[in-house]
Amino acid sequence: MATIFSKIIAGEIPSYKVAEDDKFYAFLDINPLVKGHTLVVPKREVDYIYDLTDEELAAMHVFAKHVALAIQKAFPCRKVGEAVIGLEVPHAHIHLIPMQKESDMLFSNPKLKLDDAEFKAIAEAINKAWEGK
Ligand code: AMP
Repeated sequence: MATIFSKIIAGEIPSYKVAEDDKFYAFLDINPLVKGHTLVVPKREVDYIYDLTDEELAAMHVFAKHVALAIQKAFPCRKVGEAVIGLEVPHAHIHLIPMQKESDMLFSNPKLKLDDAEFKAIAEAINKAWEGK
């Protein structure tokens, strides 16, 4: 059965897309720790990120790098942090989280509540910065 992330990639479930190429897809986390919290996923469905081939893992990080740079351009921050947690959804993903301080990366922090218009505006801002890479 396809994961929820595969359904998002296929367009069967809506998402706030920020970037895409032939192998990877990036979209806003629906429960963001901060504005700009983004997930990067491989289109090939694997549960564990280290089940990817070396080449896929390297390419995923290059893709994530360009998304991170776009996030930073759209949402100025000290650095974009990267986290692989991945116990909830069995589809490998990297969290990209703009940080002003280290504690912005704490998954135990309360999540932001944003409305549809806010999510759309954030995704559009990152997408614009990404397309301009
Ligand atoms: P984890 O597997 O622990 O990294 O958590 C999965 C992440 O995916 C969580 O941060 C969720 O908020 C996020 N998530 C789950 N479903 C969706 C969805 N439909 N759209 C966007 N983000 C999602």
